[in-house]
Amino acid sequence: MGKHLVLIGGGHAHMMTLASLRRFTAKGHEVTVIGPSPYHYYSGMGPGMLAGMYRPEEIRFATRRVVEGQGAAFVLGKAERIDPLTKTVHLENGGTIPYDVLSCNAGSFVPHSMPGAETFRDLFPVKPIEKLMAARHRLLELAAGKAIRLAVIGGGPSALEIAGGAWRLLHDAGMAAPAITVFAGKRFMGRLPEPVRIRAYHSLARRGIEVLEGAYVRELGKGSVVLDTGAEHPADFTFMALGIQPSPLFTDSGLPVGPDGGLLVNEYLHCPKHPEIFGGGDCIHFAPQPLDKVGVYAVRQNPMLCHNLLATLQGDKLRRFSPGGDYLLIYNLGDGTGILRKRGLILSGRPAFWLKDYIDRRFMRRFQALE
Ligand SMILES: Cc1cc2nc3c(=O)[nH]c(=O)nc-3n(C[C@H](O)[C@H](O)[C@H](O)COP(=O)(O)OP(=O)(O)OC[C@H]3O[C@@H](n4cnc5c(N)ncnc54)[C@H](O)[C@@H]3O)c2cc1C
Repeated sequence: MGKHLVLIGGGHAHMMTLASLRRFTAKGHEVTVIGPSPYHYYSGMGPGMLAGMYRPEEIRFATRRVVEGQGAAFVLGKAERIDPLTKTVHLENGGTIPYDVLSCNAGSFVPHSMPGAETFRDLFPVKPIEKLMAARHRLLELAAGKAIRLAVIGGGPSALEIAGGAWRLLHDAGMAAPAITVFAGKRFMGRLPEPVRIRAYHSLARRGIEVLEGAYVRELGKGSVVLDTGAEHPADFTFMALGIQPSPLFTDSGLPVGPDGGLLVNEYLHCPKHPEIFGGGDCIHFAPQPLDKVGVYAVRQNPMLCHNLLATLQGDKLRRFSPGGDYLLIYNLGDGTGILRKRGLILSGRPAFWLKDYIDRRFMRRFQALE
C-alpha cells in the first residue's frame, strides 16, 4: 500500500528528490511538499542578484511547478512544529499534515536580534535570499534621494559578497563612491587562509569600501551602528550577515538536535530516534562530523537523501552519506572578479568569477524548470 512522503522546504538538498517525484508517485506513494513560496532562490547567486548581475527569475527554481507537474501536492506555508509521536507536521496557518516518512530541508536563518534592531528602519538579514530583492529596491530608492551610508554587519564570506554586490548596485546607479562599511568583528574573513583574506580585503579597499576590525557591533541606534568600544557610526541602511543558524523548527518540536540546534542525523541522513525523519542542508547537524553551512554539502547529500527516502517507503536498504573531501568555493566580489579556493589553490580575478558563473548557471539549468 502507498505511503505518504512529506518534504519540508524545497531547498538545495531536495533538488534531486523534487526532480524525481514521479518515481515516488509511480510506486503508489503520495507526496506533499511544504514551502513558504512557489519558488526556491539559489543562495550562491543571491549577492549577484542584489548587484544586478542576475534577474530574480534567473536565480530561482520553480518548486511548485516541479511538484505539481509530477502528480504531487504543493502546500504554500511554513512548517511550525513536527510531532514525531502522531507523525504530523503542524503549519503556521494552523493546518496539519500527516506523514509516514518526512524529510526536512528547511535551511537556516541569520540571527538579527540586537538591541535597537526593532527601531532601525532599513535592516535586512542576508537570508532568506528572496529578501535581497526588497533590499535592492529599497537601496535604490534611498540612494536616488541622497548620498547614503551602508553598513554590513558581519565579517565572513556573505558579508564580503553582499558588500561587493551592494557596491556594484550603487555604483551602477550613479553613485561614484558609495559609502559602505563592513563591521567585521574581531577579524575580517578570519576563518579563511591568509591569502584569501588579503585578496578579499584589497578588493573592497580598492573600491573605497571600509572594513572595520577589532570591535563588535553592540547595538543599533536610530540611524547608527554602535560598537562595543562606544564608537558610533552613522548608517542609513544595514545588512545583517552575522552567520547562519539552522531553522528553529527542531528545537521548537523537541526533536533531537546538535549543539547548533540542527536536526541530529546519522550517516543515513535520518534521525536515529525517529528513523522516518530525514534531513539535509543547513538545517541538520550531521552527527559523524560537523559540516560547514555551505550549499556544497546540501548538493552532495542529494543522491543519498533521494535514495533513502524511496528506500524507506519501499522497505529497501539505505545508503550512507559521506561528506567527501575539501570543496571548491568561489566568492563573487561584485565587480566582475572572484576569489577561488580549493585545497592549496587560490586564484582571484575575472576567470574565478567566470567559473563561478558557469557552475551556478549550469546548476540552475539542471533543476530550475522555468518556462
Ligand atoms: C549571501 C549568501 C551567499 C552564499 N553563497 C554560497 C555559495 O556561493 N556557495 C555555497 O556553497 N554556499 C553559499 N551560501 C551558503 C548557503 O546559503 C547555504 O549553505 C545553503 O542555502 C543551504 O541550502 P539549504 O537548502 O539547506 O537551505 P536554504 O537555501 O535556506 O533553503 C531552505 C528552503 O526551505 C524553505 N523553508 C524554510 N523554513 C521553512 C519551513 N518552516 N517550512 C517549509 N519550508 C521552509 C525556504 O523557503 C527555502 O526554500 C551562501 C549564503 C549566503 C547567506
